Amino acid sequence: MAYVFDYAELEKSLASFRHLHPQIPVFSIGKSREGRHLYGIKLGKGGKRVFFNGAHHGMEWLTAKLLMQFAEELAQGDHQANTLLQGRSLYLVPMVNPDGVEIAAGGKEWQANAFGVDLNHNYDALWHLSKQSEKDAGIFGPGPTRFSGPFPESEPETRAVADFTRQNGFDLAIAFHSQGEVIYWDFCGFAPDKSYTIAKQMEAVSPYRMDTVSGIASFGGYKDWFIRTFKRPAFTVEIGQGKNPLPIEDLATIYPRTLPLMLEAIRLA
Ligand SMILES: [Zn+2]
Repeated sequence: MAYVFDYAELEKSLASFRHLHPQIPVFSIGKSREGRHLYGIKLGKGGKRVFFNGAHHGMEWLTAKLLMQFAEELAQGDHQANTLLQGRSLYLVPMVNPDGVEIAAGGKEWQANAFGVDLNHNYDALWHLSKQSEKDAGIFGPGPTRFSGPFPESEPETRAVADFTRQNGFDLAIAFHSQGEVIYWDFCGFAPDKSYTIAKQMEAVSPYRMDTVSGIASFGGYKDWFIRTFKRPAFTVEIGQGKNPLPIEDLATIYPRTLPLMLEAIRLA
């Protein structure tokens, strides 16, 4: 079996993170359908609040590993990290869908949560249109991908992430997915002007390219809901190239290609 950064690996790396950086808060924002924690980390103490999350989709666990590596790098507290976090707080939830990651780790092609709901179609952002286009795609119930659930935030994972977002009033958010090296920056024209400027800048410092979505993938996502609800910048960033699940070896190239984009987003929030 190929290596998977699964829930046990996440817990292991959080344990060592806590040990190395006892001053940095590590917490749980809620639990999954099967009772796994949705862990969070908070770096920095500033008033500008940035939120990065990963692994909304089971086969996209590499995004969780990416965010853990980023947390570890920032927690070292070198000059660059200190300057970056001046006046800023960065909140990370590396694995939004631990149950889906576990299912995918078993070798199944699985993006949804344990109930067969695609969490990135379960947010309240023109959700009914997501529901509508499901049928055209031949999706009539729970399954491995794209079923948007019975109603918005029907799943404990999306509810926890949405509550956490409402409680903290983030200035900017990025949901990390794989793959494609793309920055999705708008939602049906609702994105504030700042979204375009920040995306342009993220594009300038990385090999990632700006794009917009249409069709079934375009409604009910986290960034869609964030833009629509708060009228602040949110992005979906698709890391890497190839076929999901991307192998762990890819992170060695993905990390340096994505790092400048992450730093720039925090700086511009
Ligand atoms: Zn995804």
